[in-house]
Amino acid sequence: MSEFDLIRRYFTRPTPNTNLGVGDDAALMTVSPGMELAVSTDMLVGGTHFYLDTDPRQLGHKTLAVNLSDLAAMGAQPRWATLSLSLPQAHDDWLQAFSEGFFALANAHGVELVGGDTTRGPLNLCVTIMGEVPQGQALRRSGAQVGDDIWVSGVLGEAALGLAQLQDRVQLPESERQTCLAALQQPQPRVALGLALRDFAHSAIDISDGLLADLKHILDSSGVAAELRYERLPKCSFLTASGVEMAVLAQDCVLSGGDDYELCFTAPLARREQIMALAAPLHLPLTRVGKIVSGQGCKLRAADGSVMKVEKEGYDHFA
Ligand code: ADP
Ligand code: MG
Repeated sequence: MSEFDLIRRYFTRPTPNTNLGVGDDAALMTVSPGMELAVSTDMLVGGTHFYLDTDPRQLGHKTLAVNLSDLAAMGAQPRWATLSLSLPQAHDDWLQAFSEGFFALANAHGVELVGGDTTRGPLNLCVTIMGEVPQGQALRRSGAQVGDDIWVSGVLGEAALGLAQLQDRVQLPESERQTCLAALQQPQPRVALGLALRDFAHSAIDISDGLLADLKHILDSSGVAAELRYERLPKCSFLTASGVEMAVLAQDCVLSGGDDYELCFTAPLARREQIMALAAPLHLPLTRVGKIVSGQGCKLRAADGSVMKVEKEGYDHFA
């Protein structure tokens, strides 16, 4: 199979909302009037971000999902993507499953694949995602204000638990195992939440490197500090079991575990009810976990009010 057969067979699909899609030297798109273009890139490297034997359908999903998550955090509507692939070899079954996983999620979000690059090399998957947001309405990291509530969507730490299971560091009961592996391998980007939050939130970020590390980006960009309540953080039931060992694992997964792809956002108190009202239609828990205060850094308080020490903040490829 030639490079061009491969692109045609697996990565060329109809693109009715694109002026010119795959097949020329560049794609052409028109941004809707009054909209800003939001662009983000995320790369998944085999052996670093995922095991090389990961199910290719799930990998296709995740490659796009992590990018959609970035647009969700900006409050942007996803529209287009490019996909750059470095592959050790062209296996039909692998490519078929990968592209099915990719396009199933793309179709669910109305995203059109408009181009990319394909080369031979170590397995490396890179998407650039493009979306639209009304001028001036994007959710930035820099908008948090003193007095804001800090909110988190979904449940934290499931993906980190799923990874711990794959690495034989925990033995999860069957029910939790399915949930945590799905959280790790097929994260659901919170696009609808991000769009709804444009009206309410002051700032937002997606949690990819752990809550503490990602919240810190909001704090640094906004020049504010945070107080978090550990007992309020939404955790899966497995992590709420008693025991010192479990407490350490829970803290690690919930505070610093990577790959959650939930949204962390801040909003004024006056918006509490409107934000709570989003949870039911989105089928997504939304939890108030703390507040923005003046100063620097993030204080984490235990149920008794004492300040907790945190060993590791989050994942950093160069730390
Ligand atoms: P060029 O030689 O100009 O870089 P390529 O031969 O790399 O062009 O690609 C040919 C066409 O196929 C281009 O339109 C490019 O955007 C598209 N393309 C290449 N790889 C992919 C891919 N993995 N997914 C989608 N489109 C791709
Ligand atoms: Mg090229």
